[in-house]
Amino acid sequence: MIPFSRPTYLGVEDQYMMQAIRDGHMSGDGPFSHKCHQWFEAHLGAVRSLLTPSCTHALEMAALLIDVQPGDEIIMPSYTFVSTANAFVLRGARIVFVDIDPVTLNIDVDLIEGAITDRTRAIVPVHYAGVSCDMQALMEVAGRHDLYVIEDAAQALMSSYRGRPLGALGHMSAFSFHETKNYTSGGEGGLLVLNHPEFVDRAEILREKGTNRSQFFRGAVDKYSWVDIGSSYLLSDLQAAYLWGQLENADLINQQRLRAWRFYAEALMPLVTSGRIECQQVPRDQTFNAHMFFLKCAHLEERTRLITALRNHGVQAAFHYVPLHTSTAGRRFGRLHGEDRHTSRESERLLRLPLWHGIEREQQAVVVDAIKEFYQ
Ligand SMILES: *Cc1c(COP(=O)(O)O)cnc(C)c1O
Repeated sequence: MIPFSRPTYLGVEDQYMMQAIRDGHMSGDGPFSHKCHQWFEAHLGAVRSLLTPSCTHALEMAALLIDVQPGDEIIMPSYTFVSTANAFVLRGARIVFVDIDPVTLNIDVDLIEGAITDRTRAIVPVHYAGVSCDMQALMEVAGRHDLYVIEDAAQALMSSYRGRPLGALGHMSAFSFHETKNYTSGGEGGLLVLNHPEFVDRAEILREKGTNRSQFFRGAVDKYSWVDIGSSYLLSDLQAAYLWGQLENADLINQQRLRAWRFYAEALMPLVTSGRIECQQVPRDQTFNAHMFFLKCAHLEERTRLITALRNHGVQAAFHYVPLHTSTAGRRFGRLHGEDRHTSRESERLLRLPLWHGIEREQQAVVVDAIKEFYQ
């Protein structure tokens, strides 16, 4: 079976983990977390970065930091993972879902302004597949209405928009190091990125169970105590050690993923030209991290048959995201602004092909041949 995804593993991660064990520092914010934080702050030009147990937790921290109140409205696409919405629903927010652009599957920026009310607090764009929407236009809308922008950059590490890394554009951003993402901290993990200094002190406190322990360790206060609400939002340094092995090699991983992505794009081009399928497109003003390769079938029924055909060739292909506005919780906690012109239709046509760091050419050729045979 050719799996749909495999966790990135280079072979240095376990050596760093052993080092953390032997050195006797495995809890959060140890030496490896520090290395990772420095790497992210340099790469993103961020004011502060904070490793978290998951992207979900980073989004929850973001909701706490902008002080979301019950009844506040948060604008986001419906075509996303549940955590994008849940983080704000946990604070009592109402989610206002907006339709997507059918090419990038990102929020349609032109529809955002019409969805804004006097309860709107934030816009949460999702950089689907590692590609962003028109962030310049989105930031302009947010600026006009004095709204926060929190980037769900779970899939977007090493991508950029007009020369700036994704995750560096909004007030804050959240990344994921789940094992299905390009870089992993050993299965689960995330990062909150702060691009404005005003959030830093409170973020450190929220993350340290509501204490000023971080300030204490820096020598800024002479004892630490309970000063605010908070929870345990640190990543174990063992996991940071795993992640560090990959950040050190981030360019290499990125190049290899891009090569695998291009192989699919070129090999499937004849089917695109003949109008049988559509393939993913990356806007010209962006660089891309090859987080996933997707194609689009004509409709749901064809996709179901293609998945079966691929499975018969030992290929595991996947689709995702039941649009949140159609889900049980989405209907309870949110509403769709305007029409669902593209979200449901595109989500029913999309198919993700096996892609991971280290996938072999022969494996990709099996996938491509099976698709070509299906469309013959
Ligand atoms: C993976 C993902 C998340 C959640 O990440 P975790 O680290 O598993 O919490 C959130 N949003 C998007 C868009 C994702 O792809």
